Amino acid sequence: MNFENFNFHPSIMEGIKMLGYIQPTPIQEKAIPAILNKRDVIGLAQTGTGKTAAFGLPLLQQLQSGPRGQLRALIISPTRELAEQINIVINRLGTKTGLKSITIFGGVNMEQQIRSLHHRPEILVACPGRLLDHLWRGTIKLDGLEILVIDEADRMFDMGFLPDINHILDCIMHKRQTLLFSATMPENIRLLANKVLHNPVTIRINPEKPIANISHFLYPVQQHLKTNLLKEILTATQTGSVLVFTRTKHRAERLARQLSGEGYTATSLQGNLSQNRRQTALTGFRNGSIKILVATDIAARGIDVLSISHVINFDMPESTEDYIHRIGRTGRINNLGDALTFVTRSDTDKVRLLERKLNTPLKRLRMKDFNYSQPIPVR
Ligand code: AMP
Repeated sequence: MNFENFNFHPSIMEGIKMLGYIQPTPIQEKAIPAILNKRDVIGLAQTGTGKTAAFGLPLLQQLQSGPRGQLRALIISPTRELAEQINIVINRLGTKTGLKSITIFGGVNMEQQIRSLHHRPEILVACPGRLLDHLWRGTIKLDGLEILVIDEADRMFDMGFLPDINHILDCIMHKRQTLLFSATMPENIRLLANKVLHNPVTIRINPEKPIANISHFLYPVQQHLKTNLLKEILTATQTGSVLVFTRTKHRAERLARQLSGEGYTATSLQGNLSQNRRQTALTGFRNGSIKILVATDIAARGIDVLSISHVINFDMPESTEDYIHRIGRTGRINNLGDALTFVTRSDTDKVRLLERKLNTPLKRLRMKDFNYSQPIPVR
């Protein structure tokens, strides 16, 4: 199977070549024909499987014919970072099509956003809250919408966006094609899918199973030794870009500060940052000038940096779904990746659940030269 099989418009084929895609990924192989057949689709696929192009390419193909200069496709994303990421991919794939895609999310000047809407994009990539503001003000109208994509629906639900999504859906009364993507399919998402999709095709790409080219390791450690252990690992290991996850914004901020203080090029990505500072952090991480990004789960949605060699769970994720989301940031497509998780005694239950979900015991590692018996520092 190659991209020629889909009979994409030559301008779209150029975009595919520019991004260097040779072969469709499994989700693309299955989703693209169904979407081109105008079917509603439920795509159960984790991040890193190529799902953006799986909906982005057929979306561009369908918009290639028909009116220009009016809003025809809407992609709803849970976070700004993911929205930015999707927008970049769509604009790159569609660079020769003349179709325009812009992002709409909060934390950015409203008037500026209204001005960019004056350029009459055909595609919007939006976060729910700000999109609703525009819908209520009348600065965005969905009358001509042909395709609606709801991306990372499970995360959207976790973040409490379901009421917003329902309000947005109330603004689209007419028939349109709807595509819903989610890494997992909890009951509430199934209910949403039943409500908004018509006779959907369900495409399942090993949902809830992490990608095969990732190695998982556990590092048992006491809470107070985590920072030192992290430094030891960073010194002893050859890494590309490293994404470190902490449980809270505050811990992310503090750890990034400690690492920078030790001479690492590190920064944090967490909800306390202004939109500008988030963007600077992400751009630096993408272009390699920042090697270590310390992030929280929510802030890290949509990070797409192919050179991430290691995901380090400084704090054990709350759920196995979060684990899968986090480690989905490494080992993308054909790259290899390592997922390292620091575990303390209190994580025992979570580790058991994780091993059950992955259906395999995870390897426990100890750093050879690390002093595991350092006492808790006295403050
Ligand atoms: P996604 O799951 O959409 O976040 O995509 C993960 C990564 O895979 C992104 O860096 C994409 O640019 C890349 N990608 C998507 N489709 C392909 C493909 N067919 N061949 C190679 N890389 C791809």
